[in-house]
Amino acid sequence: MAITSEKPKKPIRLHLRSQYRYAIIYVVVTFAVLLFLNLYCSKTSEELFCQSKKVYMVERCQLAAQEIGALEVFNTSSVSTALSQMSTLRVTRLIVTDADGVCIYDTQGEAPGTLIRLPEVMDALESNDVFSWSYGDGAMDSQAASPVFSKGVMVGCVYMLDHDTAQGALIQSLQNNILTITLVLEVLVILFSIAFAAVFSHRLDRILASMRIIREGDYTHKVEMGGQDELTYLGAEFNDLTDRLQESENRRRQFVSDASHELKTPLASIKLLSDSIMQNDMDTETVREFVSDIGNEADRLNRMTQKLLSLTKVESLPDNDYEIMYMAPTVERVVRMLSGIAEKSGITIETDFSGDRPILILEDDLYQIAFNLVENGIKYNVPGGTLHISLQKQKENAILMVRDSGMGIPADSLEHIFKRFYRVDKARSRKTGGSGLGLSIVKTIVERNNGTIQVESTLGKGSVFTVTFPAFDPEEAFE
Ligand code: ADP
Repeated sequence: MAITSEKPKKPIRLHLRSQYRYAIIYVVVTFAVLLFLNLYCSKTSEELFCQSKKVYMVERCQLAAQEIGALEVFNTSSVSTALSQMSTLRVTRLIVTDADGVCIYDTQGEAPGTLIRLPEVMDALESNDVFSWSYGDGAMDSQAASPVFSKGVMVGCVYMLDHDTAQGALIQSLQNNILTITLVLEVLVILFSIAFAAVFSHRLDRILASMRIIREGDYTHKVEMGGQDELTYLGAEFNDLTDRLQESENRRRQFVSDASHELKTPLASIKLLSDSIMQNDMDTETVREFVSDIGNEADRLNRMTQKLLSLTKVESLPDNDYEIMYMAPTVERVVRMLSGIAEKSGITIETDFSGDRPILILEDDLYQIAFNLVENGIKYNVPGGTLHISLQKQKENAILMVRDSGMGIPADSLEHIFKRFYRVDKARSRKTGGSGLGLSIVKTIVERNNGTIQVESTLGKGSVFTVTFPAFDPEEAFE
């Protein structure tokens, strides 16, 4: 039975997908807005009808008051005669009272002499023009009253009532239309919101499904997102991320296979040498030689694991402990350290640190860069050769240049020498204890310190390694 330490992941249950939540909010908000617009439009249409009615009624009322005010005799028969000559007075009820509110004339048969207690009449008898209206049951009721003046004295009032079902029907149909449009719009909003939420949800599901596929390790999977919105960009970013994951996975695999391959060779040599000692009858001198070879291979293994370790350290080192420093003291230390080996190989080291200037760097990093380059300059040099190390100024940069008069590097190898485990001449490199890791470490460290590294080489003549850092002259920086 297979034992797995990974807990099965519970699928996340979505109670209410966010897009549906947004859709509901959207529907509620639009409903509120439409309701407000609906009420506003209904009220405004009523107001408009009322305004036109007011003009009509007040005008008629004043006209009638003028006619009656011009009468010599102010009684039921003279008023009735005067009003019957006014053809434009088409109202439901018309009352004329005297100055005390007592009815003189009424189109709906109220007996002359009755006190009229309508508020509009009372208001008009206080010399005001009055208008009021109400709307209900598909009809519009408007009332108007005006005082009657005769020779400058208020002698009574004219009151009119109009029960208008035609205008009422118009208002009713207008309000019904507005309500229908509102309902249709709301239904459209609901349908549109549901459709939009469903499409959005479907697209998100596709991204989620892709994430699950990639979690299972298929980094080649790509999410296809049409359109031009945020989800399209999310899909593109996601694909970018998986590309990077794929790249780093490839690099990891490559590194593991390269490392195991490189470590296998010295181990196989040790095994072969020890087998030979065990199986053959050898004289002491040969055994000594074989054991010394085993020692050399063990040293090589040791160096290689040290470098592999420093390589992983370089990649995970936190970015602190940086200091502004001149390069010369550290490079001098490297030269002192390696001058013994250079002497043994008959190589002359020349230095020129006159162009030194401060840079921002980790001191250990600078040491490692200089050490690897100078060591290579000695290792891959020719007996009697020279190694020139200089520090130079160049515009805003500080340069460390290591030039040797050694064997040089073939043009087709130049682009590979910064790759892990790459060695130009494996046999020679092995003899000199090379692992093919030095320059890749140098490149990683240089780039981590915002620098660049370049190489120029002529086969049989020598190579020049140029490391460029941004200069950090404090006086200039804080000017
Ligand atoms: P190694 O540990 O093998 O020296 P490096 O990464 O330092 O690994 O160098 C990679 C390869 O580049 C070496 O194997 C060597 O062939 C070549 N190389 C590096 N520096 C020089 C140089 N100064 N002159 C000629 N060849 C060099």
